[in-house]
Amino acid sequence: MSKQLCIRFVFALTALATMPGVDGGRAAAEDTPLPWKAAVATAKITPKRPLPMAGYAGRKEPAEGAETDLYAKCVALQDQQGHRVVMVTLDLIGVLEELRTKVASEVEKRHGLPAHALLMNASHTHCGPAYGRDDTKDYFNELADHLVRIIGESLENMTPARLTYSFSKASVAMNRRTPSGDTFLNHPNPFGPVDHTVPVLSVRGEDDQLRAVVFGYACHNTTMGFRKWLGDYAGYAQQYLEEDHPGLTALFMMGCGGDQNPYPRSELKFAQQHGRTLATAVEAALEVNQRTPRHQRPVSGPLQTLLETVDLSFTKDSGRPDFPYPVQVVRFGDDVMIVALGNEVVVDYSLRLKSELTRPDGPAIWVAGYSNVYSGYVPSRRVLLEGGYEAQSRPWQPDLEERIVGKVHQLVNRTHASEQ
Ligand SMILES: [Zn+2]
Repeated sequence: MSKQLCIRFVFALTALATMPGVDGGRAAAEDTPLPWKAAVATAKITPKRPLPMAGYAGRKEPAEGAETDLYAKCVALQDQQGHRVVMVTLDLIGVLEELRTKVASEVEKRHGLPAHALLMNASHTHCGPAYGRDDTKDYFNELADHLVRIIGESLENMTPARLTYSFSKASVAMNRRTPSGDTFLNHPNPFGPVDHTVPVLSVRGEDDQLRAVVFGYACHNTTMGFRKWLGDYAGYAQQYLEEDHPGLTALFMMGCGGDQNPYPRSELKFAQQHGRTLATAVEAALEVNQRTPRHQRPVSGPLQTLLETVDLSFTKDSGRPDFPYPVQVVRFGDDVMIVALGNEVVVDYSLRLKSELTRPDGPAIWVAGYSNVYSGYVPSRRVLLEGGYEAQSRPWQPDLEERIVGKVHQLVNRTHASEQ
């Protein structure tokens, strides 16, 4: 760059920084009425008595106590037309179908919230209780009561808010499928596909204070597998954000981390370090330069929510009936769209859907996994045909990826149509 050009370039940057229309995003936002209503609510769901632990079949003994508390959290959002969505996040292994069914029907009965407007996501910590068994009925019922209560609280306490979407990246996750002979081992593979995106939806109130952040990440929440209750890295990330921003509720939404692990693992300090890394990435997303509107977007409506199942088949010789797999789409106008998939989805789904659904003027695409149902892995066609751990949990037909992706497109296209 010549000296003259360089000076001109610096001048252009300075001019950009001082132009009121460009750098005045915050002032402008304060002047306009807040377009959303929002509220959060939280319940502590740490078991009070020794319960069996979820996640590792080899760990037969109950937990010996809590290293950290476990939480259920929810954020209720309402657009200017009155459309609502409630997003629930859980420091638990997964969202069991019977839990979702119970909570969704109760919430619909009491608050008129349709099931398609309820998104439930679990962090997949392996240091939480197994709650779907005969010997954990009491905990299951308490958990359902907590969820119905906090969802009701959030729906009843909504106040004006504005929403912003931004993202950053964190490299905690590494692909864990390492080719070995004719199969794949569960080992760190720095060459394998990853999705390091940290999507962040932030909620600010009338005073412009941060009230909530919903943030996602695609990585097994399994730094630890010991016999204590622990939110793992996702729990620490939420804890650190809440400590660093008094009055904030941080909600973690698990992404397509079925074939992703945090490394290094198996020491508590690593869970804390990964949590700090992720919390710092959320801070970075909140700081993304407001002069790049594609990167930090004010979120407007209308809010649209759709939830349907698509039947997935198993191999004929398995004799299993089809599996009704839930696919949910939560669309915030042309600003952000959350696609919430059930079960332990591998990262290929996130990468493919983001590549297929992203449009130059369309919403940012956020793909969550571990939502609304929990019953094993959902490999992509590639992973299923390659074999290895994530391919073996169920005898899926290889067309499962096309069916799931097809259903997502169907729902997304319907959101387009309803805007016209
Ligand atoms: Zn898992």
